[in-house]
Amino acid sequence: MNLADKINNLSSEINSIIKKAGNLADELGVSTYLVGGFVRDMLLARKNLDVDIVIEGDGILFAEKFALVLDAHILRHKRFGTAVLTLPNKIKIDIATARSENYAAPAALPVVKPGAVYDDLFRRDFSINAMAVSINKHNFAKLLDYFNGLKDLNEKKIRILHKLSFMDDPTRLLRAVRFTERYGFSLEKLTRRLFNEAKKLNMLHRVTKHRVRDEFILMLKEARVLTMLKRLNKLYGLTFIHKNVKLDKNADSFLKDLDRLIKSFHRRFPAKRVLDTWVILFTAILDGLSLEEVRKICYDFALRRGDTKRIVSYHQEYKAILKELLQKKALSASSIYRILEPLSFEAIVLLMAKTSKPDIIKRINEFLEAHNGIKLAVTGEDLKKIGFVPGPHFKEILTSTLHAKIDKVIKNKKDEIKFIKEHGSRHMRG
Ligand code: ATP
Repeated sequence: MNLADKINNLSSEINSIIKKAGNLADELGVSTYLVGGFVRDMLLARKNLDVDIVIEGDGILFAEKFALVLDAHILRHKRFGTAVLTLPNKIKIDIATARSENYAAPAALPVVKPGAVYDDLFRRDFSINAMAVSINKHNFAKLLDYFNGLKDLNEKKIRILHKLSFMDDPTRLLRAVRFTERYGFSLEKLTRRLFNEAKKLNMLHRVTKHRVRDEFILMLKEARVLTMLKRLNKLYGLTFIHKNVKLDKNADSFLKDLDRLIKSFHRRFPAKRVLDTWVILFTAILDGLSLEEVRKICYDFALRRGDTKRIVSYHQEYKAILKELLQKKALSASSIYRILEPLSFEAIVLLMAKTSKPDIIKRINEFLEAHNGIKLAVTGEDLKKIGFVPGPHFKEILTSTLHAKIDKVIKNKKDEIKFIKEHGSRHMRG
């Protein structure tokens, strides 16, 4: 089958990359192929800016030469014979040396050897991800489909390539759920049976946590993450994260609320930074676990320090924060600011989903709409001009002035200076 039409339908930038890669492949005399998710999405007519290329030959050498052709940034992984080229227009090109993989034991890391494109396709997860398209001139756009990926795409099936696939690499269990839900496909019958067998053997427990983490985070970043989680919960459960993690009715409605709030946050505050949705959802999934358990999960998954901090501090503080925000007595705008400003936006969205109290929501909304990110007109330089000697009290003076501004006691720079002259000396020590 020839896919020239499909290639022509891609954007002009991608088209030109493919043609240039084909020309370079001919010059170097190596057989070169588009592969994996890129081919799958091209056949589905879905946009994909990650171009996956496999070379039957030295992938690194090809990548170095291609980086010069495209004037692209190159990152080499010599050990794996792969490289990533990045272009300013967000297009990413993964270039790999065709290789075969051999798994010495279930869930172990494979022994990797250079090979032909067939071997490279055979080591892949599902038939729909295991097609290649030649881009050399003499057989440009020819589809290589050894495992009936095209048939499975048409029949909307996720099919593994051989019986030991989930045993070799159990993270494919997570990938299977991700692709079925992303494309509205289903697991092919034998694949489903082998999925269940792998589940019975608790195969996801056998993989190193950081590989599970990477795959799970990819799921949490998907547009249809909620249905994916439900499906994963049904097919496998979530105990591979921790024995006490489960997705019951409460968790389900918490996640739904979060999904709605994340969307509305982005709509209402386009100028604020984009939320790390996966951090929010991961935090929510751990709802109900003890602080120690949450800490241990973050540690075992080797999450980055900043992510761990956001996840753990939410679990540590949310009850106390909600209690403070629920106080009956009038809370000044600056008191609310003091409570909420230190929190991440992710934590704030979690708080909103956690409470059904309109008073709390109102207070959080006021903070987000009017006070978060508010700045003074005066700076430390102005304090020096007024006659203060620099020191730690500068921060205190500026903070109490900011609070006065939030409480609308003062409005413009003139007011700020007047306020500082009247009240600033209170913060001087000695
Ligand atoms: P996405 O659209 O999510 O990026 P993708 O298919 O491009 O999907 P990647 O994770 O970028 O997924 O992987 C690229 C290709 O590498 C896949 O299409 C698949 O062929 C192969 N692959 C990735 N992970 C595995 C795995 N665990 N086992 C076997 N093959 C894999």
